[in-house]
Amino acid sequence: MKVRGTLVRRAAQLKASVPPPPIPHTPSRCLLCQHTPVDFATDDHTVTLSCPSCRAVFSIEFDPPGRPELCARIERLDDRD
Ligand SMILES: [Zn+2]
Repeated sequence: MKVRGTLVRRAAQLKASVPPPPIPHTPSRCLLCQHTPVDFATDDHTVTLSCPSCRAVFSIEFDPPGRPELCARIERLDDRD
């Protein structure tokens, strides 16, 4: 599968040339149950993640202002009852 390997490498090179998105990380799985995929919406420094499996909702704030020691602050938003 030499052709396929070449295509994969070329795709990786193209991806590397794209400038990084404003959000440094996008969640790919639920923080609680590891379900994937999850729904998320991004704002300037915040990602709101909702899990269709366990219905947990998280707000992940990257580089929270006034907290230089934190790279992200995670807050659970859903009702835990
Ligand atoms: Zn979940």
